[in-house]
Amino acid sequence: MILDLFQLTGRVALVTGGNRGLGQAIAVGMAQAGADIACVSRSADDAEIRGQVEALGRRFLSLQADLAKPADRVGLVDKVIAGLGKVDILVNNAGSGGRFAPEEYPLPEWRDLLEVHLLSAFDLSQQAAPHMLTRGRGKIINIGSVMSYEGGLNISAYAAAKHGIAGLTKSLAVSWSSRGINVNCIAPGYFETNMSNSLKYHPVRGPQILDRIPAGRWGMPEELQGLAVFLASDASNYMHGSVVAIDGGWLAR
Ligand code: NAP
Repeated sequence: MILDLFQLTGRVALVTGGNRGLGQAIAVGMAQAGADIACVSRSADDAEIRGQVEALGRRFLSLQADLAKPADRVGLVDKVIAGLGKVDILVNNAGSGGRFAPEEYPLPEWRDLLEVHLLSAFDLSQQAAPHMLTRGRGKIINIGSVMSYEGGLNISAYAAAKHGIAGLTKSLAVSWSSRGINVNCIAPGYFETNMSNSLKYHPVRGPQILDRIPAGRWGMPEELQGLAVFLASDASNYMHGSVVAIDGGWLAR
């Protein structure tokens, strides 16, 4: 039956940046669908997400790493396999913003942003691939943005990373689609999280953005859960290399 295809019972999902914001909502949605959850973030602040996942009767593993640091990324997928037995689903979600005029953007910060958003997504996909290819199944979901399509305002690193993640999604999908791994990308519009609060409540930019969203409101993190579970489940087995916007109509305008 169709709803059975959306079940994630017995699957293990690694969600980077799963301790708050969009990653937390995605992790909880996947746990509700039956998956055990591993999260990676810099802080050890995992009490809320751990409580939510364990209350659903799922296992939870917390890993601490700064994904901007290549050394911190070494062996992360193996740690999930050691702790939870396997990795069926990888969600490359972690990241933060940076806003500077391009002529003033400090190069180290530009590079760090690319490390977290783009290089870590490739690194973790590369770590997960041998396990997924051996088993002939796996789901990789990259979190892009409407800035995978647009330039934004003074976010050169972010726009470059998010355009890059769309390209990476397509490239990995071409290589792995015939070998059982689905690689797809979610491109959220403006959602209420820590990261976006400074924009939402900015006296000038806040109202400008709201005015331009056809739906007339910002998205709530829970509104990503359906798409994330779909892309993690057997219901999306023929979907490869897609970048799916969920943006209240932002890109349609
Ligand atoms: P958020 O609430 O600030 O959460 C960011 C998450 O990433 C946190 O769990 C954070 O944990 C983790 N993180 C950040 N830097 C990290 C690093 N160097 N190493 C490891 N973990 C790190 O942000 P969000 O809005 O949910 O954003 C999540 C993703 O969605 C990002 O890729 C963002 O670009 C994308 N997105 C967001 C929106 C939006 O409107 N909110 C729109 C489009 C796309 P720690 O701080 O503990 O490390």
